[in-house]
Amino acid sequence: MGSTMGRRLTCLHTHTCYCDGSGTVEDFCAAAVGKGLSAIGFSAHAPLATDPGVTGSADSGSANTGWHLPMERFAAYRAEVKAAKEKWAGKITVYLGLEADYIEGIASPARWNKHGLDYVIGAVHYIPTPKGALLEVDGDADSFRRLVHDHFAGDAAQVVRVYYRCVEKMAREGGFDILGHLDLVKKNNRDFFSLESPAYQETAAHAAAVIRDAQKEHGFAVEVNTGALARGTYPDTYPEAALLRLLPGIPFIITTDAHCPEHLGAGYERAIANLREAGYTESAFFEGRGADGKPEWSYAHLA
Ligand SMILES: [Zn+2]
Ligand SMILES: [Zn+2]
Repeated sequence: MGSTMGRRLTCLHTHTCYCDGSGTVEDFCAAAVGKGLSAIGFSAHAPLATDPGVTGSADSGSANTGWHLPMERFAAYRAEVKAAKEKWAGKITVYLGLEADYIEGIASPARWNKHGLDYVIGAVHYIPTPKGALLEVDGDADSFRRLVHDHFAGDAAQVVRVYYRCVEKMAREGGFDILGHLDLVKKNNRDFFSLESPAYQETAAHAAAVIRDAQKEHGFAVEVNTGALARGTYPDTYPEAALLRLLPGIPFIITTDAHCPEHLGAGYERAIANLREAGYTESAFFEGRGADGKPEWSYAHLA
């Protein structure tokens, strides 16, 4: 953890073997305590109530939802995290959460508000295509190439616009506490679009304005997600400094999107540096939900 020792550290974005991560709830709690975290939250990919008909990454037409928590395991997941809360009390605060997809007309983070969860991360992983298919934006480079060429006639700027429109709709709808990996669409941008292009910047700035308005109503935080740094899939945080700069007044919570216990805390130095570069002096920490159901945040200086 280097010079982060002594700072207040938490991670509310984690995936265990209940979904597409490796390691148990117990493994994550033990590692989090070992790394000096004061809180850990579990955020399995929320079960999808119905098969959304996601087009397979190989265009097989089959559902491609192998990474979600199966609905029939949700009760066991909830029970195990609740048991960990008790077991680890006094050593680390354990939160029960989910990372819930926003897929217009199919899945919504708000759906999970009444399941006894401490918090929900809202995230867009799938976008609708002009042909009515549903495709992942964070697949590997080959699947992104197919998305752009086969479903958007090579128009990557349109993929970016559709992605951010989905994020905007999710933000307006609310029902989540943390907005997850805001600019995930950039994961495979290298061969398709530049983050410096006017088209990209205009689209991202539009989304940032919508998010600022929606946040005033709903109270959610935006995460500075270091998952791509931890996994080596993109050399920066989601979002990076340029986009963070467009979100003044928003609580920022640093998370790892850890898919194994070893990921916890990876890339936090970069997240802190990016927040500073964007002109911020504080990060936010989840303090539960208030009587109005909105999340409450405390703040600590970025030291
Ligand atoms: Zn995600
Ligand atoms: Zn995640």
